[in-house]
Amino acid sequence: MDTEEHTALREAVAALGRRHGRESDTTRLWSEAGKLGYLGVNLPEAHGGGGGGIRELSIVLEELGAAGCPLLMLIVSPAICGTVIARFGTDAQKQEWLPGLADGTRLMAFGITEPDAGSNSHRITTTARRDGTDWLLTGRKVFISGVDIADATLIVGRTEDARTGRLKPCLFIVPRDTPGFSRRPIDMELNAAEKQFELVLDDVRLPADALVGDEDAGLLQLFAGLNPERIMTAAFAIGMGRHALAGAITYARDRSVWNTPIGAHQAIAHPLAQAHIELELARLMMQKAAALYDAGDDMGAGEAANMAKYAAGEACVKAVDQAVHTLGGNGLTREYGLARLIAASRVARIAPVSREMILNYVSHQTLGLPKSY
Ligand SMILES: Cc1cc2nc3c(=O)[nH]c(=O)nc-3n(C[C@H](O)[C@H](O)[C@H](O)COP(=O)(O)OP(=O)(O)OC[C@H]3O[C@@H](n4cnc5c(N)ncnc54)[C@H](O)[C@@H]3O)c2cc1C
Repeated sequence: MDTEEHTALREAVAALGRRHGRESDTTRLWSEAGKLGYLGVNLPEAHGGGGGGIRELSIVLEELGAAGCPLLMLIVSPAICGTVIARFGTDAQKQEWLPGLADGTRLMAFGITEPDAGSNSHRITTTARRDGTDWLLTGRKVFISGVDIADATLIVGRTEDARTGRLKPCLFIVPRDTPGFSRRPIDMELNAAEKQFELVLDDVRLPADALVGDEDAGLLQLFAGLNPERIMTAAFAIGMGRHALAGAITYARDRSVWNTPIGAHQAIAHPLAQAHIELELARLMMQKAAALYDAGDDMGAGEAANMAKYAAGEACVKAVDQAVHTLGGNGLTREYGLARLIAASRVARIAPVSREMILNYVSHQTLGLPKSY
């Protein structure tokens, strides 16, 4: 499925990943990957990007993950925020943000999740009201990644006259130090460089040009960013699953406690083979979703991106679980670095849309079954 260019990109990023490895300094890796042009492969060439698509960006994230050094903010900064600005931003917004997002010198976080809405984005209450030509934004967000290192956060709100009913989202760029925009880190049991934050927006005053796209464009604009997010989360999960599996395979080849390496026992070998098959299958669906998205088929990409995220999340959780088990006691030591993936792999099952919400989507959108909620 990879073209020659894809293979070359995959190999080059894998080599970068191997140089950094699982103890890598995320800031240094981000900066180096940016200089090499990997962070903006999906963004338009006219604005400093590589002119490719989410397919290429997913290769970058998958390969870094497979090397044990995934860059979580790739899901958010170039994939969601870069895409939304490239597709719906004004020329001025594109000029201001895209070159920096492409070379990694600037970073943008993305905030949609709210404490009282959770999976039900139609219930978000972050509200924008006009004050002259300015906007005043008020609300709360939770679990927002990387707000401390991001120059700005793309906040999903709704306008005052669309406060209830089906979500008519509108998107605002909120610079990190805007008065009234505060953050509190959430104490997560995750061993990752990127932190999650609870945000409070208290009458945050924004100029008219903080709005990205049309305040009435509705869900289309939002999904322009959310489909890449799902595809990239699949890449994150597949990379992590491959990383865990590789560690388990090496161990299973070397470790002998009877007469043969433990990898010769089918109880060890078969689950690893299954994990490999499931990761490969998930990657196929991810490639389908990316191909549809990059071809401009937002609707078709929606279903495939959900299925890819589901398949990759499940494959990742199983691969990590089996990898830890393969190492016996060493599966839980810091030295082998697998136990910390137990929590990390669960992120792919929960975020950005949970396994159950994808099953709901497929049940009624694809299978035509009645809705339960
Ligand atoms: C590490 C991490 C990073 C994140 N980064 C970001 C970020 O950068 N930006 C951002 O906006 N958000 C981010 N999130 C938030 C993430 O998208 C949400 O956690 C996710 O959407 C689930 O929402 P929730 O946690 O409120 O769970 P809830 O919606 O409360 O769901 C709890 C459980 O109930 C189930 N459930 C809910 N409704 C139904 C239903 N109708 N049918 C069946 N089951 C249901 C869910 O599947 C889940 O298992 C992040 C989360 C994590 C863990």
